Amino acid sequence: MRGLIFDIKRFAIHDGPGIRTTIFMKGCPLRCIWCHNPEGISPKPQVMYFEYKCIHCYTCVNVCPQKAVYFDEGGMQRIKRDLCTVEQGCRICGDMCPTTATKIVGRYITVEELMQEVMKDANLYDDSGGGVTFSGGEPLFQPQFLMEALKSLRRRYIHVALDTSGYSPTEVLKAVEPLVNLFLYDLKLFDEEEHKKYTGVGNKVIKKNLKFLVERGRAKDIYLRFPVIPGITDTSSNVEGWAKFLQGIGKFERIHLLPFHDVSEKYRRLGMDYLMPAREAPSEEKMKRIAERFEEIGLEVVRGG
Ligand code: SF4
Ligand code: SF4
Repeated sequence: MRGLIFDIKRFAIHDGPGIRTTIFMKGCPLRCIWCHNPEGISPKPQVMYFEYKCIHCYTCVNVCPQKAVYFDEGGMQRIKRDLCTVEQGCRICGDMCPTTATKIVGRYITVEELMQEVMKDANLYDDSGGGVTFSGGEPLFQPQFLMEALKSLRRRYIHVALDTSGYSPTEVLKAVEPLVNLFLYDLKLFDEEEHKKYTGVGNKVIKKNLKFLVERGRAKDIYLRFPVIPGITDTSSNVEGWAKFLQGIGKFERIHLLPFHDVSEKYRRLGMDYLMPAREAPSEEKMKRIAERFEEIGLEVVRGG
């Protein structure tokens, strides 16, 4: 059993309580146009290029067996995606680049290997009230690997948080729910059509799964997360829709407001298109108004994390 991850972040302090190790899993069924972790969208490995580290030695061009790498007139590395076999397991350009300017994003890992990584900081979890967080991408997109990892962590009494869009078959959520201590649950667009427009999928199952967790008595174990995306999620009608919905289904304790920031560079490095029209972070006034509305329904509002 192997899972595909794109990063393991140690000493994380924004992904749940205490000091944590966050595992970023690859693959997500959503296509949020503002996605801050585009490395997590594709369920396959990818080539990423960090131009500021490149010394233009052309090793990557010379070692590529597919002749898929070239440099454009501006000195930027380009990959011919139709020739590149990174998805089939090639990592040559990343392994051979002397400066890590070329990096293969995504590696397969067994549950045992993952446990070796996360147990390095077991003492810190105990001392700080921390643990392990699964993020991504969408961790529920690799349910079998996730289940095995969760069981392994439960056997070791490690606190687990699951950062999820809530977009998954309810059966999958039912299976993992008893093994998760804390859910970091994203709310995006309240309107079904708007949700489809900006994330590529509808939100019915997301609302259904949130209700399911509440019915299981887990409302107190949920940190709601609301990305504040200018002109998209920050409208008063969207905030109002969620506020009324939340009030109607259960007693939640806190919501995190996650302000938009421009990550166009990441998309460029992955050779992906960045479709976000706005580039500016939400105004202080906007953040304040959204916070006030959620406070009115009894939520503690936390900025960031
Ligand atoms: S991953 Fe392999 S095929 Fe793709 S660009 Fe690098 S060396 Fe070439
Ligand atoms: S091998 Fe690395 S440093 Fe050399 S040209 Fe390629 S990306 Fe740049």
